[in-house]
Amino acid sequence: MANNLGLKVKPVTETPQSEIDRVSAWINTDDYKEKNFARTSLVINPAHACQPLGAELAAHAFEGSLPFVHGSQGCASYYRSTLNRHFREPAPAVSDAMTEDGAVFGGQNNLHEALENAYTLYKPKMIAVFTSCMPEIIGDDLTAFIKNARNKGIVPKDFPVPYANTPSFNGSHVHGYDSMLLSILQTLTDGKQVEGRCTGKLNLIPGFDANTGNYREYKRILEAFGIPYTVLADISDVFDSVNDGTYRPYPGGTKLDDAADSINGKATIALGTYSTSKTFSWVKDNYSGKHAALPMPFGIAKTDAFLMKIAELFGKEVPASLKEERGRAVDLMTDAHQYIHGKKFAVYGDPDYLLGYVSFLLEMGAKPHHILCSKGTKKLEKELQALLDASPDGKESKIYINKDLWHLRSLLMTDPVDAIIGDSHGKFDARDAKIPLFRFGFPVFDRVNLHREPLVGYQGVTHMLSTICNKFIDIVDDTCDDRHFELMR
Ligand code: SF4
Repeated sequence: MANNLGLKVKPVTETPQSEIDRVSAWINTDDYKEKNFARTSLVINPAHACQPLGAELAAHAFEGSLPFVHGSQGCASYYRSTLNRHFREPAPAVSDAMTEDGAVFGGQNNLHEALENAYTLYKPKMIAVFTSCMPEIIGDDLTAFIKNARNKGIVPKDFPVPYANTPSFNGSHVHGYDSMLLSILQTLTDGKQVEGRCTGKLNLIPGFDANTGNYREYKRILEAFGIPYTVLADISDVFDSVNDGTYRPYPGGTKLDDAADSINGKATIALGTYSTSKTFSWVKDNYSGKHAALPMPFGIAKTDAFLMKIAELFGKEVPASLKEERGRAVDLMTDAHQYIHGKKFAVYGDPDYLLGYVSFLLEMGAKPHHILCSKGTKKLEKELQALLDASPDGKESKIYINKDLWHLRSLLMTDPVDAIIGDSHGKFDARDAKIPLFRFGFPVFDRVNLHREPLVGYQGVTHMLSTICNKFIDIVDDTCDDRHFELMR
């Protein structure tokens, strides 16, 4: 074998081509699938990230807030680069770079030195601390470390330093997001509740969502209602910022004063019930006003429920402009129906997104055939099953909880579908199965600007449906013979 310089290279394997061919064919069989699903001690290409990554997203979403990783520098690079590659925007965060001595003696010295440097150099309004695996394994006490930092004068007594334990060997990025958001709200609202005060605002908690278009869509809907609001927490301007030649380390986010006053709100709606469960249960017990937890508004029915809940909480009619938008979405669904009806899909992702994909597909008469979550619960399985049971198109669907994308590959090879909905990690499965992958989830590393297109609300229906149906039409154009290559489709 010669490389591109014409030099002979030693083959990396002595395995004969016939054996490679045999194994390549075998991994597509039911026999292999059975062995693959019997796997218990190894995860291959999981469809989730670790807790601190979610914590970092929450930490970025507040005005002047600096995410601070207590732990290894390599881990911090992973969260930053994942966010950076998905949004194609900077994700400025710091780490106290624990190494071997920190692992032996504890990370307090690292944390104090880094806190002092970060406070002095980057002049944040808040530093949000969360942990990687190493300090969690050795049992670092964040409460004591941060209290000691204040006592030593490393940060002023009234400077907000929320902190969250985000052990990565447990849960996923959505749990880390929830823990960090909870701590930020607890810190900022401490002592801010005023008897008899009502801001008149809606607090909207979108949950872990790396689609900036979704945040803009929520705000547009609330503006159509004419309802004052605070989004807790708003990444839209942080990760979809203007490029005018000036670098701003903190280009947006929820104002700290608004977040502090959110405890005196008129009402709070938490979306994404799986990524806001801890936050919502604390909000319910501590925030003034009414509270509601709803699934993310994917598809028509869930968007209707969202709008009707806002209308009910604020005693307002759903605005005519939104009713018209709904009518247009329904018209578009009718027009596009023939291209998606009966098509089989494999879907995977975060619990809240997964519930959204399944509802949306069932509304279109499509079949969410393989439904896979690599960090799910029995509760999620039941909720998904209830959606499937309510539709004739869900009868043959199967749910796979705590399975990974290598399991999904076996499913695609032995029980094929027409397309996959997920994130960029599924591209290898899609390539092997020779079917399209619709990148609606997180992260998306290999396409541009998808995080700017909303998936929620009636606009989300329009976007998702057009993307999917036009791809299916492209496939017909690309694969049909000349006689069937038609102008009309
Ligand atoms: S799983 Fe643990 S070690 Fe790996 S990147 Fe996440 S925090 Fe770091």
